[in-house]
Amino acid sequence: MKTSVLDRFLRYVQIDTQSDPGSESFPSTAKQRDLSNLLAVELLEIGISDAHVDEHGYVYATIPSNSNKTQIPVICFCSHVDTSPDVSGANVKPVIHKNWDGSDIALPDDHTQVLRIGELHDLDQQIGNDIITASGKTLLGADNKAGVAEIMAAAEYLVNHPEIRHGDIKILFTPDEEVGRGTEKVDLAKLGADYGYTVDGEAVGTLENETFSADSVRITISGVSTHPGYGLGKLENAVKIAADILAKLPKDTLSPETTSDKEGFIHPVQVEGIQEKVTISFIIRDFTTAGLHEKEAFLKGILDEVLKQYPNSTADFKVQEQYRNMKEVLDKYPQIIENAEEAMQRAGLDPVCRSIRGGTDGSRLSFMGLPCPNIFAGEHAFHSKLEWVSVQDMEKAVEVIVNLARVWEEKA
Ligand SMILES: [Zn+2]
Repeated sequence: MKTSVLDRFLRYVQIDTQSDPGSESFPSTAKQRDLSNLLAVELLEIGISDAHVDEHGYVYATIPSNSNKTQIPVICFCSHVDTSPDVSGANVKPVIHKNWDGSDIALPDDHTQVLRIGELHDLDQQIGNDIITASGKTLLGADNKAGVAEIMAAAEYLVNHPEIRHGDIKILFTPDEEVGRGTEKVDLAKLGADYGYTVDGEAVGTLENETFSADSVRITISGVSTHPGYGLGKLENAVKIAADILAKLPKDTLSPETTSDKEGFIHPVQVEGIQEKVTISFIIRDFTTAGLHEKEAFLKGILDEVLKQYPNSTADFKVQEQYRNMKEVLDKYPQIIENAEEAMQRAGLDPVCRSIRGGTDGSRLSFMGLPCPNIFAGEHAFHSKLEWVSVQDMEKAVEVIVNLARVWEEKA
């Protein structure tokens, strides 16, 4: 068995682990276990004796402390084994473009799929590196098998280099991240970690410590329904009330199509109904809880104003919490980010902190009691046939994981 991060990566991406949003079983697809089982076996072969897959398809393992310090926080490294339902992950044929010279890369099984500098960000940083792509018919699965391979390679390195001191290191591989269920059956008490890092980020040197905060809003409008031939002066059509509400949303701000960086939005995602009753579903996003509440109050204001013109209609306005910006948790434990920055600097990188305009398993884990920012895995253009990663970036990620284990021990 070959064990470099590259060999591991090539082996893992050829196993189809696509998850399924329509499935109610857990994991959502049984084939995810094919990779989970392999990882547990490989961890045992490395010498990590408690490695196992639980009944839900999660892989748990511990690299025991080799330090005589007793107060070292227990750190967990986490990646997901599944790939996106958006693009096929069956029969992935990884292609290595060695010592890439910067010219266009047309994928061999579909020449219309081309990686070009200028169209794919960060690609211009990779000249001279070995780039891995899929062959044109599938995604590559670097999201998140790059992270899986990096954690595996770092684990093996730590076991084979006992001169590197570290505390207990936990490894967690989860199913179903891509369908939003990656933390559903995780057992954090059993995991027993104090802090975590998901290894699922993009460009080398990046570190993500912020996500959106997210709520959903459901407005249910009850109009006054009559036979349309006899509606004079009585009919209050819920379909038109809904249209009035949507028409009052600002056109040049507060929407996904008009915002970026740290701006949030109010986004209608579904309208359903008949003249008697209509439901509008929204997602609300911001980086602060206060910002979410402001947007919800604004939307409620629109609803109240519209309803004034329909005196016999009523509406129900229901807010539901989805997830919160993990920074709210991470700010209480600044050493998590500081140590990650230190680990990157020791690998010769300039760490860059970024925010994610979305949620991650890390944000859920953070609020479940495992503060967990996201560090780079090198994966790019994920959920597409143009997905790519470079061998050099994966090797850097392995170095950063090893450094992190060391930094936490030194600072304890
Ligand atoms: Zn991912």
